[in-house]
Amino acid sequence: MLPRPASGLVLRLRPLGESDLLVDLFSKEVGRLTALAKGGKRSKQRFFGVLLAGHLLQMSLAPSKSGDLWRLETAAVLEPHLGLRQDFRRLLAAGPVLELLLRATAPQDPQPGALELALITLGRMQRAKEAAEMASALVIFLVRLLKLLGYGLNLEACLACGRPAAEIEEPRLSLAGGLACPACPEAQGARPVLPGLIKSLAAALALEPGSLARLRLAPALLPEALAFLAAFWQEITGHDLPSLSLAIKTLS
Ligand SMILES: [Zn+2]
Repeated sequence: MLPRPASGLVLRLRPLGESDLLVDLFSKEVGRLTALAKGGKRSKQRFFGVLLAGHLLQMSLAPSKSGDLWRLETAAVLEPHLGLRQDFRRLLAAGPVLELLLRATAPQDPQPGALELALITLGRMQRAKEAAEMASALVIFLVRLLKLLGYGLNLEACLACGRPAAEIEEPRLSLAGGLACPACPEAQGARPVLPGLIKSLAAALALEPGSLARLRLAPALLPEALAFLAAFWQEITGHDLPSLSLAIKTLS
């Protein structure tokens, strides 16, 4: 028997019939789940202003007969992430956070670290004043989520020959999953990057979650970091991630 989730981040809303809504959520207790909000399209009292993408909800859910669908009985907003809606760039920067939780995680597979990471990232984005701050938060989210979901990048040594990172003066990042040296041209989809990028990504992976909000990447590293991480995420998920392309365009 699955635990009953008590709080969750709204990822997506889909209309169902005349008056109902299907709500995709990411909860601490069971990971991604879908809940049916009866009358969610109509009910002004129960769910009005509550069911919006990016809201963190306190909720009561009841299991349904079909097992993988829950029924949303009550919901209240714990954190609206209002700052995201006050700036068009912030909202676009936050899009991939919701889309990746929706598309890259398995249903009902608890990933408490992923929810914590998403909330740290959205919290930082909703206060960000500059595009570089939003882009740093996005890079850190993209690289940390890879690790949490088991696709972690190897940044310590060349994937092909094992030469340590400290000895590689012209590093490249490969879609095979990490660092490649120039002497190993066969590394899949490898692209040259600035040496500082390898160090910054390694720092983003090593920090405690509570310290992540203070890590900033040098602005010169951001375009390379986002381009590589977008290509790698696309490789892993096997499809286009429109929100990620849009965020990168907006932040560049
Ligand atoms: Zn090598």
